[in-house]
Amino acid sequence: MSSPAIRFKNVAKRYGTTQVLSDVDLEVCQGEFFGLVGMNGAGKTTLVKCLLDFCALDGGSIEIFGVSQRLTQARRPLVFLPERLIPPYYLTGRDFLNYLLKLQSLPYRPDAVKSTLEALDLDMAALTRPVRSYSKGMTQKLGLAACFLADKELLVFDEPMSGLDPKARALLKARLLSLRSAGRTLFVISHALADVEEICDRMAILHQGKIRFAGSPADCCRQFDAATLEQAYLECIR
Ligand code: ADP
Repeated sequence: MSSPAIRFKNVAKRYGTTQVLSDVDLEVCQGEFFGLVGMNGAGKTTLVKCLLDFCALDGGSIEIFGVSQRLTQARRPLVFLPERLIPPYYLTGRDFLNYLLKLQSLPYRPDAVKSTLEALDLDMAALTRPVRSYSKGMTQKLGLAACFLADKELLVFDEPMSGLDPKARALLKARLLSLRSAGRTLFVISHALADVEEICDRMAILHQGKIRFAGSPADCCRQFDAATLEQAYLECIR
């Protein structure tokens, strides 16, 4: 049997004496779209930082496609988009894409860049401008374009819809759904429950550093006897 795309096993993390994550047990299957939701301060970003080995665990283990997250090779099949992307201000959009592709030993293919930007409704002319002149939405689209051009098996996105206008959100959803059909895996932090319900196969609710629920959005509504996912979520964290 193939390994899960991500396995969190009894993950614990403290900052000083504050326990931020306790006994986090989760598996994200290959080809699955998985949403992580929770209040501000619940520990979502910390869990992703642990996944990316940006910080050390105080207990438990994490594997990416069966490889410990401590090993550089574990991160090779994934791409990460942070909640607030801040590209080096002095680079143009093109330089930024080129730089990220080079880091992965990938070529800059103008046709692929053009079609990726068009699919996100980002004007090609913006590529010649320094990123410091970009709006929040344009910067987000540039980051998403860099992720899609990297063409990885596993996408780890923190609030990918952040700053996007309704058209761009619809385009991004369409792109994500086509990646789901292609068998890619998505692990996404989102506050947008409607988006989670629409695009995710399963979700987890993290509350005060613990997993309170894991299952499909429909199971969440059933388990908490709620008509909507929002009501189920509120019931879960009550
Ligand atoms: P979320 O992403 O769900 O909003 P975070 O993972 O950012 O939550 O934060 C979880 C808790 O850990 C919060 O109480 C936050 O204040 C605390 N925290 C996050 N990063 C640090 C840090 N570097 N040092 C100390 N405490 C932190």
